[in-house]
Amino acid sequence: MNARPLRLSTTSPDFEAELSRRLHWSAETDAQVEQVVADILADVRVRGDEAVLEYTQKFDGLAVASVSGLELEQRELKNAYHGLPVQQREALQAAATRVRAYHVAQKRATGESWSYRDEMGTLLGQKVTPLDRVGIYVPGGKAAYPSSVLMNAIPAQVAGVEEIIMVVPTPRGERNQLVLAAAHVSGVSRAFTIGGAQAVGALAYGTKTIAKVDKITGPGNAYVASAKRRVFGAVGIDMIAGPSEILVLADGTTPPDWVAMDLFSQAEHDELAQSILLCPDAAYIEQVQQAIDRLLADMPRAEIIARSLNGRGALIHTRSMQEACDISNRIAPEHLEIASDDPHLWEPHLRHAGAIFLGRFTSESLGDYCAGPNHVLPTSGTARFSSPLGVYDFQKRSSLIEVSEAGALALGQIASVLAHGEGLQAHARAAEMRMKR
Ligand code: NAD
Repeated sequence: MNARPLRLSTTSPDFEAELSRRLHWSAETDAQVEQVVADILADVRVRGDEAVLEYTQKFDGLAVASVSGLELEQRELKNAYHGLPVQQREALQAAATRVRAYHVAQKRATGESWSYRDEMGTLLGQKVTPLDRVGIYVPGGKAAYPSSVLMNAIPAQVAGVEEIIMVVPTPRGERNQLVLAAAHVSGVSRAFTIGGAQAVGALAYGTKTIAKVDKITGPGNAYVASAKRRVFGAVGIDMIAGPSEILVLADGTTPPDWVAMDLFSQAEHDELAQSILLCPDAAYIEQVQQAIDRLLADMPRAEIIARSLNGRGALIHTRSMQEACDISNRIAPEHLEIASDDPHLWEPHLRHAGAIFLGRFTSESLGDYCAGPNHVLPTSGTARFSSPLGVYDFQKRSSLIEVSEAGALALGQIASVLAHGEGLQAHARAAEMRMKR
């Protein structure tokens, strides 16, 4: 099997057209999936628990008498943690500790209330409060994702969310012990073995057993994505993620095998994943292609990797590192690696990326599991206007205003003029009454 990412050069006349063809990806919705999801959501909204039970039996082959039978006891989560092989338990704990430390620092830097007094003694500020209750969706149809539990639940816990409800489908009732253990270490309050649109509906509308949440976060398949899109408004959602992406900026100083494996590490997610290399050194690009040829045969997921690299991958020869940075900014990738001996030379030129990995020792995969920052990142160019999942996604802000007597006089004059201008007499008088004391 061959993996031959498209070879492009920025000096080629058709570079722009070829690049945009490679980047093109549309979250086209499948009409059939949309209809199925709309029906499930409507049904869960009306019939609650009963509908959740039926769909769980239908899609996950899991039959129980009541939704309480689908709830995982805290004791079971704890037992899962203690029952893990020691190496897994320690790795999970170490990852959770680092992810927590990062999000605590994030909260300190960006998530605290603040206020000041103006020259008339009026207090102005912002009060930051956590959401009361959130739902985290942990996918489980075809594979298990314990790291998704950590990355969604820990920032919610650090934000101070009181109740974190996890849902995870468990086809035929086969519970993944690492997922359960991850729920234990990351402060999940309640957990249910349900998934798909029925789980999203239960969290969004509430049922007799499952309380309605304020926001739903977490990735999932097309049914989950469609359901999240549809319940938005009734609840908040984090984002709808597209296929995973990596862009490597290389100056030729990182071993080509390392770069090839980093390209694989996104490509192995799914055939729509995108792996791109930008490099000003043509000989180095050839070495990376040779590394791809040599390393691919050994990869258990070689077929998915090859399809992804052949379908959406690209090795791009640029005129310079600066040009590579400019192209990267246009692409705004989910993961951006600066494979350079001097990453800090280039980092200031890079503005749009979900996460930036600096230097040859920083493989993107370390960020996926345990470096600390969140691995839920904006995809498909949305890093131009959005950010990684974080503590701030589980908080909201209220403005604070406490006007002093002197402030009421000064602000009243301004408000009165503007309110009369808008024809809103009660607004004007409410301000004027306070000026007459
Ligand atoms: P999932 O939990 O998303 O979906 C399983 C559920 O889909 C089932 O419980 C069922 O209710 C529903 N479903 C399946 N077939 C259906 C049908 N015909 N009609 C109605 N409902 C149906 O699990 P999955 O399928 O394994 O998908 C997980 C997805 O999440 C993958 O696409 C994976 O790439 C993605 N993912 C993304 C990230 C990220 O950080 N971006 C992380 C982990 C997983």
